[in-house]
Amino acid sequence: MKKKPQRMCVSCKTRADKKDLLRVVLLPSGDIAYDPSGRLPGRGSYLCRKQECIMAELKAHRLAKGLRHQVDDEELKKIASQILKECEDEVQEEG
Ligand SMILES: [Zn+2]
Repeated sequence: MKKKPQRMCVSCKTRADKKDLLRVVLLPSGDIAYDPSGRLPGRGSYLCRKQECIMAELKAHRLAKGLRHQVDDEELKKIASQILKECEDEVQEEG
């Protein structure tokens, strides 16, 4: 019996196939990146394709990292929508 690899969204705890989740990585530099390859260094988290989940994780990362500058919702929203856009582009350009 083959089992599909499953991962859990760190934000809403929904389980899904690994391929249906996004991987975002907190890079050693403190930046957050969408990681379609799954190979970037840093602390990775799996998230479903929802802005709320991405936002929540971005905030958690920022807080965990203890960054001095304030968590700016507008900036986080921008990053979240970039990640969503990138993953849409990737689906369209597949192949
Ligand atoms: Zn989620």
